[in-house]
Amino acid sequence: MIREQIYRLRAAASGREAIAPAELGRRYVDRETGEEMQPVARILPLAPSDSALPRTPANLRPCRRCDQLIGLDVSDCPYCGLRQPALDGESER
Ligand SMILES: [Zn+2]
Repeated sequence: MIREQIYRLRAAASGREAIAPAELGRRYVDRETGEEMQPVARILPLAPSDSALPRTPANLRPCRRCDQLIGLDVSDCPYCGLRQPALDGESER
């Protein structure tokens, strides 16, 4: 069970990145450079999730054309190439 959302954090000036659980609205600082880091992406699986694995059935969706199961973060079906609709991460849960 994953309750905390994990984010990719990036320091704007240096481009240094970190993967860490984070809360929006809090300030995160790179411990080596002292730069402020901003959350730039959520890491799958989106919290809360029953599994920490991004490729479990709960974190897949069927392609509308070929019905193969593909990752929630995949923009084009790897089997038939169909463009997948965007997820906002909230309404699909
Ligand atoms: Zn497909």
